[in-house]
Amino acid sequence: MSKAGVKVCVVEEQPEVGGGTKTKELTVPGFKHDCCSSAHYLLLANPLMKNDELGLLSKYGLEYARSDKLTGEIFEDDTTILFYLDIDKTCESIAKFSPRDADAYKEFEKTAGKHMEMIARGMFGPPASSGTAHAVMDQSEEGREMLRAQAISAWDVAEDWFESDKLKIALSRFAAEAMNNPFDKGTGFGFFITLPFMHRFGGWMPVGGSGALAESLKRCVEAQGGVIKLNSAVKHFKISGGEVTGVVLSSGEKILASKAVVANINAKQIFPNMLPGFELPPKLGRNINRLHQSRYSSFIQHLALNEKPKFKRAGELGDFLIVKFGHMNVEHYRNALYRMDLGYLDNEFSSFCMPTSIDPSRAPAGKAVVHNYALVPPVLKDSPSEKWDEVGQQTADNMLEIARRYCTNLTDENILGRSYVTPLDVQRRNSAMPAGDICHFGMYNWQIGGNRPLPGWHMYRMPVKKLYMSGSSTHPGGGVTGGGRAAVQVVMEDLKIDFEKVIK
Ligand SMILES: Cc1cc2nc3c(=O)[nH]c(=O)nc-3n(C[C@H](O)[C@H](O)[C@H](O)COP(=O)(O)OP(=O)(O)OC[C@H]3O[C@@H](n4cnc5c(N)ncnc54)[C@H](O)[C@@H]3O)c2cc1C
Repeated sequence: MSKAGVKVCVVEEQPEVGGGTKTKELTVPGFKHDCCSSAHYLLLANPLMKNDELGLLSKYGLEYARSDKLTGEIFEDDTTILFYLDIDKTCESIAKFSPRDADAYKEFEKTAGKHMEMIARGMFGPPASSGTAHAVMDQSEEGREMLRAQAISAWDVAEDWFESDKLKIALSRFAAEAMNNPFDKGTGFGFFITLPFMHRFGGWMPVGGSGALAESLKRCVEAQGGVIKLNSAVKHFKISGGEVTGVVLSSGEKILASKAVVANINAKQIFPNMLPGFELPPKLGRNINRLHQSRYSSFIQHLALNEKPKFKRAGELGDFLIVKFGHMNVEHYRNALYRMDLGYLDNEFSSFCMPTSIDPSRAPAGKAVVHNYALVPPVLKDSPSEKWDEVGQQTADNMLEIARRYCTNLTDENILGRSYVTPLDVQRRNSAMPAGDICHFGMYNWQIGGNRPLPGWHMYRMPVKKLYMSGSSTHPGGGVTGGGRAAVQVVMEDLKIDFEKVIK
């Protein structure tokens, strides 16, 4: 909007910009940790980045480091499945478990590649309504395959293609990156996103940390005359004559907007509490209330290390961007997921993200940072959300113990500092993520695309005139996706600004 010459004011409740993309020294000085998101693999498929539409890369200091060693799964017997950018090398790793699956993976990747263009095109522009999308997809073989994948579970898709349990576990867990149980129906499409995107676009991370993305956007807005107001929580929207005319901050200050207000927060924050005196369309409040939260939240332990992790009998693994600690058998895996659904904190779904393997600037020379990331229940069984304050340290200790089973050098001497973030901490630091729900609410097939946030309200326009939404509560949903690109097209259309000219 700034680039189009519109006067923009960004209003942020926290003392710094970034939301889920911030980087700070959270352990010892000199070690930079991503507070929330770390890997930006969806964003890199967005024309915003592919074509550098805002000049973030060429003018505003953003740089990505790239790894060909994407991700690996290590099992309790220290066997590994390694996923490289290169499909043939990936298949060699899979062949150790099943030569048939190695061939099937090649075939799957070809199929995913055919879907990719359709998915990427749909992801970064305004979505069609669910009915229209169905009708369009129904016209082609690829489309019908995607309709099926949307309806079934990620595990079903794994069973469609592969025979090795370890491979099925590793792959279905990627589908769970959207914080869903991969055995839930309506999660199968995830299979066609995370890893296939990584194979095509690589494992990339911003040099200096995830926050470098937000900082470059800040520079971009300010360079075009935009204003960023920090420490400014919006209490509610100002409405007059049925249209939004600005925002009212918790301090009482009012900021007026003549053209539009775009709310990049959670739909549940907005409806109805931020719209005083405005009569919502019937059932809208009810429908917002019944949006299903994501199954899981995330717990992060930040480690500052004197030397990078060394994995037992799996030497190369230490150079990979992400390493997941995997389950050996399906029954155990499935039970562990369902126990988590019930609120049990078993610490079964932990992984290491190791940014210093491609970006040494995040730590003093030769040293490393690790983002020890786990899926956990948002709310613990029979407990108030404050329970997280009690169990946080123990959870972090347990996660370290698990990692020590796989690594030889996670000794007290090697760990120079550590800290952790619970789902409750995430909520406290970002009002848009209740119970630490990183997607705002679940990415199920009935809450994505033309159904996000609600069927009929998927085009970023809200019931109050001139009020728009963007961000995780809208298409394309949670994750660092550059989703604002889709929302801004609708706002520009209403303001009669030619989007294509702006991005040229
Ligand atoms: C622990 C964790 C790990 C994650 N890991 C990854 C990952 O590796 N890869 C990935 O792609 N995604 C990851 N995510 C998800 C990703 O961070 C989010 O999906 C993404 O940041 C959402 O962007 P957004 O712009 O929609 O919202 P946000 O980044 O949440 O931005 C919303 C902003 O609004 C502000 N705000 C809220 N309420 C108000 C108010 N009333 N007034 C003013 N300002 C307000 C917030 O402070 C925040 O800055 C992770 C998230 C978490 C929490």
